[in-house]
Amino acid sequence: MATIYPDVSRTFSEYLLLPNLTVKECTPSNVDLTSPVVKYARGEKPSVGLNIPIVSAIMQSVSNDSLAIALAKCGGLSFIYGSQSIESQTDMVRKVKKYKSGFVVSDSNVSVHHMLKDVLEIKEKTGHSTIAVTEDGSSSGRLLGIVTGRDYRLSRDPLDKKVADFMTPFRDLIVGQLGITLSEANDIIWEYKLNSLPIIDKEQRLQYLVFRKDYDDHKQNPEQLLDSKKRFVVGAGINTRDYSERVPALLDAEADILCVDSSDGFTEYQRETIKYIKENYKDVKIGGGNVVDREGFLYMVESGVDFVKVGIGGGSICITREQKGIGRGQASSVIEVAHARDEYFEKTGVYVPICSDGGIVHDYHVVLALAMGADFVMMGRYFARFDESPNKKVKRGNSYVKEYWGEGSNRARNWQRYDMGESSNLKFEEGVDSYVPYAGKLKDSLDVTLSKIRSTMSSCGSQSLKQLRETARITMVSSTSLIEGGAHDVILKENEY
Ligand code: IMP
Repeated sequence: MATIYPDVSRTFSEYLLLPNLTVKECTPSNVDLTSPVVKYARGEKPSVGLNIPIVSAIMQSVSNDSLAIALAKCGGLSFIYGSQSIESQTDMVRKVKKYKSGFVVSDSNVSVHHMLKDVLEIKEKTGHSTIAVTEDGSSSGRLLGIVTGRDYRLSRDPLDKKVADFMTPFRDLIVGQLGITLSEANDIIWEYKLNSLPIIDKEQRLQYLVFRKDYDDHKQNPEQLLDSKKRFVVGAGINTRDYSERVPALLDAEADILCVDSSDGFTEYQRETIKYIKENYKDVKIGGGNVVDREGFLYMVESGVDFVKVGIGGGSICITREQKGIGRGQASSVIEVAHARDEYFEKTGVYVPICSDGGIVHDYHVVLALAMGADFVMMGRYFARFDESPNKKVKRGNSYVKEYWGEGSNRARNWQRYDMGESSNLKFEEGVDSYVPYAGKLKDSLDVTLSKIRSTMSSCGSQSLKQLRETARITMVSSTSLIEGGAHDVILKENEY
């Protein structure tokens, strides 16, 4: 007979936290948000950890190199999406590892044959106002000029005007040579009153842009997540098909950690993948998933993973539950898996971190996930809203939105994450193509989210994630008390305008 679970499957919105005593030293700024990412034995330290318990989803519309850099600057970690060629994925990983604070690889470039309308389109899409003109239009081609808002007048110049006819040409540019330090670059920027300084190599190929505004970057980001060589930490997603080629290429590009991107990790394909990787590449760190219960967790751990990703069907763009009837409320999944993780630790002395993946809607949901036992959370929708994510920004009505599509949508065509052992042509989608409200720079929103997380933890009397897990008091809410939780029985002023 089938096993019928008597418990209802719960989501985060069905819970709230009760305040615990807040002692005077438990201020929001004293809250420690560091978290382990990979397994470790009792008394030891994990070799990969986070300064904030947040990672970005392994998705085409979320995690590329620019998002990875922005998030690592704030102390979190991105997993660069694997649903692309090995070459372009490793290229993104390399860009993160090569990034030097203050030195930006230009991702807004044109060739001299482009027109004003192309420049405007790039500006609209990326928000960048400095556009490099290179021989082949790439980020590392021979630098021929720069275009900024000062080079054209929209009221006068036709949209088909060639870039060659209005750019500031190379001969008029002040540039720096590769090898220059950030402080030297900034001296030039200040001396010549520049907004940016292109850095080129001996062959005049563009290497970086240094911006005036980035000068204090490293000082503003004390939490940044760095490896032992002071480079940003970055992860990468892999699948259960081409791992024997993708993994060595990613390790060669110096990815710090990998994660099998699969909607359902409780499969022999995933076990085979993890075992192969662990046997063939000695020090590699790899996460697996997704699972929603004790059995799935133990299967992952016995396969050799370093962390386990939890959640099926809770993602904002996910329609797996509708399409297949598979899944579990995210809160129920985290609670059960966290319990299994603690039991396993008790029994073996090995702590295997768990990541709550998908379904975070409000900032306090992050704290609930952590209080329920997650070591860190993975978010897609949240990050898809920012300038740094690779998805397009478009205008809808009076506001801007960004495109956000699931890895299981026709658009992403990432059928490998739905591995059924047959030819990878699924006949139905498990994700949708959608929009999310545009929210500007990652750092601005993440700072607010983190200050809310710290403040909630402080109300829970917790100065660390461990303390939160051990002492949080969580209560269920009724549907009527949900209404009480928002503003109610008042006329909101915004509605009048
Ligand atoms: P979100 O933060 O609620 O938007 O959820 C993001 C998570 O949804 C990802 O980390 C994946 O685990 C999951 N996901 C991504 N694409 C799909 C899809 O197409 N179908 C189902 N789940 C998806």
